[in-house]
Amino acid sequence: MVRRRLTVWGVVQGVGFRPFVYQLAVRHGLTGYVGNDSAGVIVEVQGEAEQVERFVQDLSAHSPPLARVHRVESIERPAIPETVFTIRPSQTTTDRSSSIPADIATCADCLRELFDPTDRRYRYPFINCCHCGPRFTIIRSLPYDRPATTLAGFALCADCEREYHDPANRRFHAQPIACPACGPKVWLESDDATRIERDDAIRTAVRVLDGGGILAVKGIGGFHLACDATNACAVARLRERKGRMDKPFAVLVKDVDMAKRFAAINDDHAAVLTGPERPIVMLERHPGQGGVIDGVAPDLRTIGLMLPYSPLHHLLLGDRPLVMTSGNRSDEPIARDNTEARERLGELADAFLMHDRDIHSACDDSVIRVFAGREYPIRRSRGYAPLPVKLPRSGKSVLAVGGELKATLCVTSGDRAYLGQHLGDVESPDTLAALDRAAEHLLDLFRIAPDRIACDLHPGYLSADWAARFAERRGIPLVRIQHHHAHVASLLVDANVNGTPVLVACFDGTGYGTDGSIWGGEFFLADGDRIERVGHLKYVPLPGGDAAIRRPYRVALAHLCAAGLPWSDDLPCVAASPSAEQRVLRQQLQRNVNCVPTSSMGRLFDAVASLLGVRHVVNFEGQAAMELEALVDEVAESYPFATTGVDPLVLDPRPLLAAIVADLRTRVPVRLIASRFHVTIAEMIRDIAFRLNAPIVGLTGGVFQNVTLLNLVSHRLQADGRTALTHRQVPCNDGGLSLGQAVIAGGIR
Ligand code: ZN
Ligand code: ZN
Ligand code: FE
Repeated sequence: MVRRRLTVWGVVQGVGFRPFVYQLAVRHGLTGYVGNDSAGVIVEVQGEAEQVERFVQDLSAHSPPLARVHRVESIERPAIPETVFTIRPSQTTTDRSSSIPADIATCADCLRELFDPTDRRYRYPFINCCHCGPRFTIIRSLPYDRPATTLAGFALCADCEREYHDPANRRFHAQPIACPACGPKVWLESDDATRIERDDAIRTAVRVLDGGGILAVKGIGGFHLACDATNACAVARLRERKGRMDKPFAVLVKDVDMAKRFAAINDDHAAVLTGPERPIVMLERHPGQGGVIDGVAPDLRTIGLMLPYSPLHHLLLGDRPLVMTSGNRSDEPIARDNTEARERLGELADAFLMHDRDIHSACDDSVIRVFAGREYPIRRSRGYAPLPVKLPRSGKSVLAVGGELKATLCVTSGDRAYLGQHLGDVESPDTLAALDRAAEHLLDLFRIAPDRIACDLHPGYLSADWAARFAERRGIPLVRIQHHHAHVASLLVDANVNGTPVLVACFDGTGYGTDGSIWGGEFFLADGDRIERVGHLKYVPLPGGDAAIRRPYRVALAHLCAAGLPWSDDLPCVAASPSAEQRVLRQQLQRNVNCVPTSSMGRLFDAVASLLGVRHVVNFEGQAAMELEALVDEVAESYPFATTGVDPLVLDPRPLLAAIVADLRTRVPVRLIASRFHVTIAEMIRDIAFRLNAPIVGLTGGVFQNVTLLNLVSHRLQADGRTALTHRQVPCNDGGLSLGQAVIAGGIR
C-alpha cells in the first residue's frame, strides 16, 4: 500500500481535470482526493504500488483534450486509513496564477447529442461540456466559476444542476453548461422587424443563406458576416457592402472531405483543421479550381479554410461552404454585442442571427499556415488566447502593447507570458477603446500589477501614446523598444533558444530605427541579452514616407532612381504612375526633401511587384507581396546582388533591380522573374550567414509570412549545415511584437 501526492501545473482548471482524475482513480481502485490549489491541481492517491504507477502514467498521457499539463511533481506520503476517492470543492481564494483556458470547438460527444433527436439538447446551439465550449470569451473575472462568466444570469434547471454536480458526468463543473430549458436562446432579426425564435430562427437563417442573402451571425468571439461561398453574386455583394475590394475571405467548410474539394490537404493540414482550436488554415488552392468561389480569394494561390467550431455553425452549415468574415467594416474591430452589431452591421446584413449569451472579450478567428509539418501562426487569437508562452526565467511584470498593425497585448508574470487576442490595427479611437478594455481585462484576470509598460520606439504610434498615458497614471516606467529588437526577442523566446549566439534575419515593412530611418531588412546578432545590428539592406530614399505604403509604384520609382535606372515608359511601374506625380517625386528625390531613408525588405517586395506589373496600388497590407509569392512556381537561379561594408554589412539590391529590368525587356515570363527574385532574397540571407559564420539563423518579421520564401531560405541554410530557427507559437509579424517587447522590458533578454 503506497500513497502519493501529486501537484499538477498547467492549464488544468476549467478543463474537466478533476472529474477526469476522479474517474481515473476509481478505475485503478485507488482512494484519496483531488482538488484545485493555487499551484494548479493537487491529487493524493493511495493503493497498490502498481496501480498507483499506472495512474501516474495515465494522468499525463490521457489528460482531457483542453488540459495542458506543464509539469507533475510527485512525493511519497504515509498511507492513511481511507475507503473512497473524493473531489474536494474549490477554495474561494482560488489562485490567479493558473492559466485560463482558451475557447474550444464543440467536441465529438456534444456533436452526437446535437444531432440526436432523442437527446434533450437536440439542435440546441449552446451545447457544451467540460471538454468544449467558450471559455476566454465569456470569463469576466477569476476564479473561473459560473458567476464570473456571462452565464451568471442563467439559473440552472434541475437536470443541468444534476449533471453539474455529478463527478461521473462529462458536464461536472462545466461552467457554461446550458440546455433549452434554462440556457441562452437564439433568435433571428430582419429588416421587417419580425423576430423569429429558437429552432425556427436557425431554419429561417439557413433559407436566407440559400437565397444568396448576407447573414450576421453571433459566434463565440464576435459577429461574423456569412454568405453562400458558391454564390458569386452573394460574395460580390458582401465585398461591396463591407468595402473590402479584394482581401481574401475565409471559408467555413463542413469537414476535411469538403476542404479537399478546394485545396490540397495532407495529414498535417487535416490535423490543424480538425484541432480543438479550429483556426482558419491557409492552404494551397487546387490549380484551376475556378468558378465556384473565385471571388473569395482573388489573385492568390492560397485559400483560408476553417471547420465549424460552435454548435450554431454545425446547424447552419449544410452541404455548401460558407464565407465567414469578421462582422465589421474594413479596419474596424469585430462587433461584439447585439446593440453594437445592429448599429454597425445594419447596412451590411440582410438578417441577424442573435443570441443572449454575452461575449465578454471579442476574439477574432486565428489564422495558421503549416510550415515543415507544424503550425505556423499568422494570427494568434481565438482558441489560443490567452494561453501562455513559457519564458526561460522570471523577470519583472510587464504590460506590452505591441506596435501599430495587428496589435496584441502581452502581460508577464513569473516565467509566463500571457498573450491576449488579436486587436487589429491601432489606428483609430475605436481601436484604442478595445485596447483599454483588453488591457484592463488581462491585468485583472491574471491579477498582475505591472512594474513596467513597454511599447514601440516609433514616435507616431497611437499605442505608444496610450502606453505613455498608462505609465503616467500608474506611476511606472515606460520602456520604448526598437521594433526589430522586439521581433528578434519574440523569436528567441518562441523558439526557446538560450545562451547560444543566433544570427537573425528580421524582414518586414516598417519599423522605426534607432537612427530615425525606417528599418525592415535587418540582420542582428543576438547573444545573451545583447542584440547588435550586424547588417541591413542598403538605404533607399522613400519620397513621402508612409504615402508610399499604399502605392507600390512610388517605391518602385524610388528603387529605380537609387539604382540609376531611368524611368522609361516601357516599365509597368512607370506606365502606372501619373506623370504629375512623377514630376513631384523626381524633384523630391533630386533635392532630397521629404524623403525618408529606408532599408525595408517589405518595400523591396512592393517595388518588384509593381516593376513586374503585378500590383501598383494595394488595398490591404502585404497584398503586393502575397500576389508576388503566388507567382513563384519554379526552380530558378539567383539574380546578382552586392554585399559591401563591414560593420554593419550592407546588402545592395541595385544589381538585382538592373537584372530584373533587363529580364523584363527580353520578355522573360513574370513567373520566372518572381521566382528568381525570391531565390535572390534567400541567397542574401545565405550570404550573410556565410560571412558571419553563423551556425543558427533565425527568421522573423512579417515578410516571413511568405512560406515560399521561408522554404527557400531554410533549405539553403540546411544545405550549408546551419540550423534555421522559425516561429512556432506566435506570429512572425507584428502580432508577435508584444511578446518581444515584454521580455526585453522585463529584463529577461
Ligand atoms: Zn463537449
Ligand atoms: Zn438546463
Ligand atoms: Fe514588424
